[in-house]
Amino acid sequence: MSALNEQQLARYRRNILLASVGEEGQQKLLKSKVLVVGAGGLGSPVSYYLAAAGIGTLGILDDDVVDLSNLQRQILHTSADVGRPKVLSAADKLRALNPDINVITYQQKLNEESAEEIIADYQLVVDATDNFGTRQIMNRVCVKLGKPFIYGGVLAMQGQAMTVIPGEGPCFTCIFRNEPPANAPTTSTVGVLGAVAGLIGTIEATEAIKLLLKIGTPLVGRMFTVDLIGMNSDQVEVRRDLNCPVCGSK
Ligand SMILES: [Zn+2]
Repeated sequence: MSALNEQQLARYRRNILLASVGEEGQQKLLKSKVLVVGAGGLGSPVSYYLAAAGIGTLGILDDDVVDLSNLQRQILHTSADVGRPKVLSAADKLRALNPDINVITYQQKLNEESAEEIIADYQLVVDATDNFGTRQIMNRVCVKLGKPFIYGGVLAMQGQAMTVIPGEGPCFTCIFRNEPPANAPTTSTVGVLGAVAGLIGTIEATEAIKLLLKIGTPLVGRMFTVDLIGMNSDQVEVRRDLNCPVCGSK
């Protein structure tokens, strides 16, 4: 691996000081490729922290434009970005934060056809959507290609996160089989505090870095849950479903 230059040694000093990272780990991060699906409430902290950490290639996928009502939580975007495509607004901020990395934008929805081609270029995928169908597509393609997938979800004052490593634990579909009913609460009906999305997003970014460096214990087979109104957090054991249509044995 090529050595870090002076600028990189300075920029990533606090990473390098970490016993579990070091110069070798930082070089590994700079060679890493991560796809973040969604540039909103979760995608903002996820991509900001991954860019800051020096993830060498960061893919950002989103088909939406910035709306005034996004700014309460989607901290990658500013008032001046209202009306702009989220991926372009996001790329500006991420490149300004860290010109050392390569930011690739996909201004589109993830569908069955495009997902496999896009995801094939990355080592792992971070879910920063709030869409059941998109999560199912990401999970299915990641299981098929054997790529880790980090799930995160927020609603009101609550959040949850889990990491899927194909073959090592349950996948998203093992746990979430059926589409939520049309009248189920969503952030557009019951709201979400921006800081709650920030917390779950930073957990997802941390999981991604741990997986890239093969350090620590990922959230595989356990769902991290947090209720910020009472400041309670928990971990729920989740098991693989042998009849899962995505990762099951059949
Ligand atoms: Zn499964």
